[in-house]
Amino acid sequence: MKVTNAEIVISAVSKKQYPNDQLPEIALAGRSNVGKSSFINKLIARKSLARTSSKPGKTQTLNFYRINDAFYFVDVPGYGYAKVSKTEREKWGKMMEEYFQTRETLKAVLLITDIRHEPTKDDIQMYEFLKYYELPVIVVATKLDKIPKGKRAQHLKRTINTLQLEKGDIILPFSSETGEGKDEAWGILNNFL
Ligand code: GDP
Repeated sequence: MKVTNAEIVISAVSKKQYPNDQLPEIALAGRSNVGKSSFINKLIARKSLARTSSKPGKTQTLNFYRINDAFYFVDVPGYGYAKVSKTEREKWGKMMEEYFQTRETLKAVLLITDIRHEPTKDDIQMYEFLKYYELPVIVVATKLDKIPKGKRAQHLKRTINTLQLEKGDIILPFSSETGEGKDEAWGILNNFL
């Protein structure tokens, strides 16, 4: 897709704020600082439409980016941020549940993981949560540029095994730095849009 228009429409905290124009949506979930904003920016070829923050976990909102008046990327607030209070965590959980459970225009979820590291408990929990809601999951193993070519297959395999990906789940090695995986990402997304 050639992106000619991309804009943030709303940072929502509850359902009544979600856009209601019925465009299809692709959500992005992942730990804080894993590279969600960078993924969006790379795909739409913008330097910084999506906020790339140096303060992990700060954005506790669902950010809706409308792309070409054709679909939305929805940046879901990162999980696994140790410094938030229990109350904030609970608020986050409720917001996630409300969104994933009820959003009819949601077509697929990109679960962004860091290919350098074994998926964390939070990653596994998020994967299982998405599967529970029967949402199509695409695992994007990002920061591929940080792993030498000879070790990539091994890292990818570890991600697949730790998350216990099921048959039919898609995993995509990706780098926001080099753009590796970008064309493949569009190819996959187009199948869901
Ligand atoms: P978010 O919190 O998930 O939105 O993460 P960001 O997109 O803000 O990225 C967090 C940090 O990781 C930033 O310093 C990015 O420059 C860096 N980063 C993200 N993706 C990549 C990647 O593919 N390769 C490398 N080398 N750095 C990345």
